[in-house]
Amino acid sequence: MVTIATKNVRFSYGSTPVLEDITFSLDTGTILGLVGPNGSGKTTLIRCIDKVLQPEGTFLIDERDIQTMRRVEIASKIGYVPQNGARIAAATVFDVVMMGRTPHMSWRLGERDLDRIEYAIRLLGIEDLAERDYNELSGGQQQKVLIARAVAQDPNILLLDEPTNNLDIHHQLEALATIFDLSRSTGMTVVMAVHDLSIAARYADMLMMLKNGKVVAIGRPEDLITPERIREIYGVEARIFQDPEAGLIIAPLRAVPELAL
Ligand code: ADP
Repeated sequence: MVTIATKNVRFSYGSTPVLEDITFSLDTGTILGLVGPNGSGKTTLIRCIDKVLQPEGTFLIDERDIQTMRRVEIASKIGYVPQNGARIAAATVFDVVMMGRTPHMSWRLGERDLDRIEYAIRLLGIEDLAERDYNELSGGQQQKVLIARAVAQDPNILLLDEPTNNLDIHHQLEALATIFDLSRSTGMTVVMAVHDLSIAARYADMLMMLKNGKVVAIGRPEDLITPERIREIYGVEARIFQDPEAGLIIAPLRAVPELAL
């Protein structure tokens, strides 16, 4: 089944076009990696899927026009982990993760809500942080809490904007493996903006390459990632290796001055 389908989606901040002619469809359970240089429109596209922004064109979630969906409906289907730890009014980690239950909760916390909160806290391995003040945590710890909040939400679609930005490589791999396993075990669709191409190639089923607000290519990482494309999109010469366990490894060699972005 198709979870997200768009046709000729366009978005402008004021009179500046930022997304143009975005057309794609995503099957349920797919992990889509959004890649592309800074300013190519990855965050904007993620915010359109969450209906924080309202683009023109056709945008369907589970075959329904997103325009007709109310905020609470979107929130019950879609979890969103913003970039670089959102600022949140003073709250404990437990309270922040509990916020993920808001779209499902009645006026009080039910047993199912509590189960999901505890599950999410355990899944992200942040039990020892549960009583701490969220705002006193490191960027990486905050990032994990926000992922846990989205997991507690029990979404069909999980949107992640640079989920590993603040994490060291140990925690990067841990967080991505958690998201990958969760998607495989529950059929959750994932859309994540990722800077590191090797990480994107390893954890995503499909990649969408964006440049200047347009889709340059979409497909399986092994079909998409070539030295020519990396040169075209990033203005960088790169070498590509295949490791039996790590998959594709993209090693950038040098920026090509005449291809400055
Ligand atoms: P990416 O996530 O790929 O770095 P963004 O979606 O953040 O790209 O940005 C795409 C373009 O939109 C950039 O040129 C950026 O400057 C512009 N942009 C982003 N947010 C705003 C905003 N709130 N107002 C005006 N322009 C914006």
